[in-house]
Amino acid sequence: MARIVMKFGGTSMAGIERIRSVAERVKREVDAGNQVMVVVSAMAGETDRLVGFCREASTLYDPREYDVVVSAGEQITSGLLAITLQAIGVPARSWLGWQLPIQTSDKHGKAQIDAIDTDALAASLDGGSVAVIPGFQGVADGARVTTLGRGGSDTSAVAVAAAIKAERCDIYTDVDGVYTTDPRIVPRARKLQKVTYEEMLELASVGAKVLQTRSVSLAMKEKVRVQVLSSFDDKPGTMIVGDDEIEDTTMESHLITGIAYAKNEAKITLTQVPDRPGAVASIFAPLADAAINVDMIIQNIAHSTGSTDVTFTVPSADLARSLDVLEKAQEAIGYKDLVHDTKVAKISIVGVGMRTNAGVASTMFKVLGERGINIQAIATSEIKVSVLIEEDYTELAVRVLHTAYGLDAEEETV
Ligand code: ASP
Ligand code: MG
Repeated sequence: MARIVMKFGGTSMAGIERIRSVAERVKREVDAGNQVMVVVSAMAGETDRLVGFCREASTLYDPREYDVVVSAGEQITSGLLAITLQAIGVPARSWLGWQLPIQTSDKHGKAQIDAIDTDALAASLDGGSVAVIPGFQGVADGARVTTLGRGGSDTSAVAVAAAIKAERCDIYTDVDGVYTTDPRIVPRARKLQKVTYEEMLELASVGAKVLQTRSVSLAMKEKVRVQVLSSFDDKPGTMIVGDDEIEDTTMESHLITGIAYAKNEAKITLTQVPDRPGAVASIFAPLADAAINVDMIIQNIAHSTGSTDVTFTVPSADLARSLDVLEKAQEAIGYKDLVHDTKVAKISIVGVGMRTNAGVASTMFKVLGERGINIQAIATSEIKVSVLIEEDYTELAVRVLHTAYGLDAEEETV
């Protein structure tokens, strides 16, 4: 007998028919002798609808009341799943965030989970009942309902799995796993059997949006084994595990695990910044004060004039604010021109195999160069190399890199 958490996303919960098939899946795990906790999302589109109501009611809505409204979607699906489980003979009950409780900070709309009380949960499981827990919600100071930020029910599921020491946290979603890259761009993308937490974090943060990034960080910290799989078929999905589980398999011995792309960054260049100590700090301090995340940074070699160009990227959504901050700081920084470009894309190759193998980055540069794709900026970490290129080349770059690193499947997967 194992304790497992099953989490179902919005598309799996969209309508009674689908909830019935979720109930059947849960029943199968129960019949196999497992103790099962289920974490559910709201029906697809429901949370957007509820957020829309809040905005329509008042642009300056009270975030505490926003949480009361938007957490309702999950309350509905948890009750409906408990009803459908009971209807097929599986004892079940819903446990709302405040009932367990799932204690969170009081940062409404983006609360952090502090602790989950497992007493009631454990008693319910031992009593043979399936616990159905609405994702995305918690309670602050024992008093007010909170939500965890959009996509937060993945984090709820991992947190419940950690608290109850579950053997596995299965995340059922509308994709059947994590792929080497976006199959819409590369039809020969392969589904990964296993991926490490770190790789998954890099892949998620650079654009492969399968799980809420926070849930992966939490899984890594708490060592929760997470599986991503489809609720619409019966194939095994992708396991997200620690490094130790990858190293002793020969199946996944590729240097590169996956390739991600992101088109939501903008490039900013400041020309002729004085080449003196403190100059770079004078650029990035005001951006940090404005809570703008700078990603890739390059500083060119100094001109004979004693100045240098500095280029970096920011999220496109923060571009206007960044330009405003930098214009106001022009005198303090002492640059000449402020240039920006939104037609850029960041392409990242990710893989723990990089740690022990040289030449991974140079292959990337060579392959892109051969296709006439110019590299505008580079950033690296231990398990990732990212380059900034012209946006129009995104698909081509991903495709040629996928082939160059031997990731293409024999046949098209989609
Ligand atoms: N229903 C919430 C959302 O749409 C939480 C979730 O589904 O993960 O953001
Ligand atoms: Mg989701």
